[in-house]
Amino acid sequence: MDTLKNQPCPVCGKKKAVLMEEEIDVPYFGKTFVFSICCEDCGFSKADIEAVEDKEPVKITFETTSEEDMKVRIVKSSNALVKIPTLRMSIEPGEGSDGFISNVEGLIGKFEKVIEGQRDSSDDPSVRKSAKNLLKKIRKIKFGDLPMKIVIEDPSGNSAIISDKAEVSKMKKK
Ligand SMILES: [Zn+2]
Repeated sequence: MDTLKNQPCPVCGKKKAVLMEEEIDVPYFGKTFVFSICCEDCGFSKADIEAVEDKEPVKITFETTSEEDMKVRIVKSSNALVKIPTLRMSIEPGEGSDGFISNVEGLIGKFEKVIEGQRDSSDDPSVRKSAKNLLKKIRKIKFGDLPMKIVIEDPSGNSAIISDKAEVSKMKKK
């Protein structure tokens, strides 16, 4: 991994940002740049990924049905809209969204964190109750007892779910 220290921060402008870049070969997706910037002064951080070769806009649909599916690799760029209809949750694309290479379990973990936060800190008993129910659902999903659908739409094409079960369709360019 290449690390560059004392880079100008895009938010506060101070030369306190650390840039990290790495090239990873993702099987069935190709060589991919993984990079992140983190400012030691203002705390700004951003991570993203980009395939080395040009990609077409894609829509990927995947349904988990077993514990084994938790290990399926996911490549998600900051341009991707990720929807989990089973949990009625999504990750919107854009500035605040990080790109990452992870697996299904890692993706679920991000949602789990948000829901746990609602369970532990909401003043509304109905919010806490529905959070608890969602966490129960997630436990079942992880064991493969409850199927979970994942839909990723990425106009940049820099996203993938690496599985034979994943359905990939091309999206129209905007
Ligand atoms: Zn900064």
